[in-house]
Amino acid sequence: MSNPKLRFDGRVAVVTGSGGGLGRCYALLLASRGAKVVVNDVGTTVTGQSQNFATGSRPADLVVAEIRKAGGTAAANYDSVTEGEKIIEFAVKQFGGIDILINNAGILRDVSFRNINEAQWRDVIDVHVNGAMRCAKAAWKYMEKQQYGRIVNASSASGIYGSFGQANYSTAKAGIIGLTSTLSNEGKKRNIFTNAVAPIAGTRMTETVWSKDLVDMMRPEYVAGFVCYLCSEACTGTGDIYEVGANWAGKLRWERTAGCMLPIGHTLEDIHANWAKYGDFTNAVHPKDTLDSYQMVFDMFEEKYKVK
Ligand code: NAD
Repeated sequence: MSNPKLRFDGRVAVVTGSGGGLGRCYALLLASRGAKVVVNDVGTTVTGQSQNFATGSRPADLVVAEIRKAGGTAAANYDSVTEGEKIIEFAVKQFGGIDILINNAGILRDVSFRNINEAQWRDVIDVHVNGAMRCAKAAWKYMEKQQYGRIVNASSASGIYGSFGQANYSTAKAGIIGLTSTLSNEGKKRNIFTNAVAPIAGTRMTETVWSKDLVDMMRPEYVAGFVCYLCSEACTGTGDIYEVGANWAGKLRWERTAGCMLPIGHTLEDIHANWAKYGDFTNAVHPKDTLDSYQMVFDMFEEKYKVK
């Protein structure tokens, strides 16, 4: 198989929250391979509090300066993803379009579920879910028209497995997976591919919970190659979720047990008696999508009750 050099010449990319951490690495890599990059970052603290910066020294400005110094093309944008349409219109004005969107911006408001308040819940959902939706929605009309688009959404292990003290964040990151699956369904016929990644990297987001050694070792650069590959024309996968870190990446999928079908009129005691079967992964299946999942259930029902 030939292995062409993958480039992004002529492509316009928006990377949200790319003033630091993972987003900065995505922006630098895309620009180094020819993309015109909008470096978006509102410049908050990890918990989403606004900060003051001198003119020209906002996080987005610094990354744009790095890209230009290396000979690339980039422009800084400071809008919040909660007003995503402004970011996309900025890209269209600056560079004439939008081909690649990495929904990467994020904040944390970690607190136990017992103590969480409305604002801590709402702000996290707003940045991650509404932010990703607004950027994607604004980019969608351009991508549909040009029959091309690549969207990568930042999910998290917390959204997949849950995480103590992160009810808001894990709900948001699980929401990102639902958004990814549906955008993939709706976009694939028009060559708009949407995937989600759950990164694993040492950044200011992980430095409060990881040791310094681990933060230093798990560099965000080790995530960037895979994420940028998902943004390339060469990538034909869509609707997938990957965990990515440490120069490694792996795909996740849904797995369902063969389960147990009981007679019509069964009792709660029948469920109790068969409990082990519901959780037995021998002969597990892997539904690809909602239709596939439903069809398997309909088929089992028809088979069991000989309905036609
Ligand atoms: P980070 O804090 O370094 O980067 C997030 C960036 O988003 C910051 O620069 C911040 O200013 C910006 N931002 C915050 N709110 C914004 C808004 N409303 N509009 C625009 N920009 C905004 O953290 P990171 O680790 O680089 O995280 C990047 C993404 O990856 C996040 O979505 C995060 O949830 C996700 N993630 C990271 C890890 C990890 O291991 N680092 C794990 C799982 C998920």
